[in-house]
Amino acid sequence: MYRWLAPLLLLLTTACGPGAVGAADGFVADGAHISPFDTELPAVANLDPALLRAVQDAAQDAADDGVTMFLTTAWRSERYQRQLYEQAISRYGGEREAARYVSTPDDSHHVTGHAVDVGPTDADDWLNRHGAAYGLCQTYANEMWHFELATAPGGTCPPMRPDASA
Ligand SMILES: [Zn+2]
Repeated sequence: MYRWLAPLLLLLTTACGPGAVGAADGFVADGAHISPFDTELPAVANLDPALLRAVQDAAQDAADDGVTMFLTTAWRSERYQRQLYEQAISRYGGEREAARYVSTPDDSHHVTGHAVDVGPTDADDWLNRHGAAYGLCQTYANEMWHFELATAPGGTCPPMRPDASA
């Protein structure tokens, strides 16, 4: 990635307004809950097929336990991730601090379709207890909602990293 490209993209994003990122980028509005079965949405359709299947299976079984599972965010385009990262830099005051909360477009597992953010909290709890049966693991200690396929179904989840920058 050329160093001038990031400021240029930021300039373009700013010029087009924050509304420029849309459903095609995997954008999910704050408070909007999408189901892992909403496969017509790019945010869900662009997930890694194995991850999507695992999340759907887990959501089904969670529902049997009376727990509704939704996704607060799933796949995100590079453009959308870049916008989130730039926002985090302004919010946290620097790239190093921002990277603890939002990955760069190059590092984000959401951009490659290998991560989902799950809600609400009781669904996070459920997935923390039962996720390994589906291969789903919380991978960052500071993000109880962020899950990835990180073990074989029925396996043991690897130790969590403290945060996304570690
Ligand atoms: Zn995440």
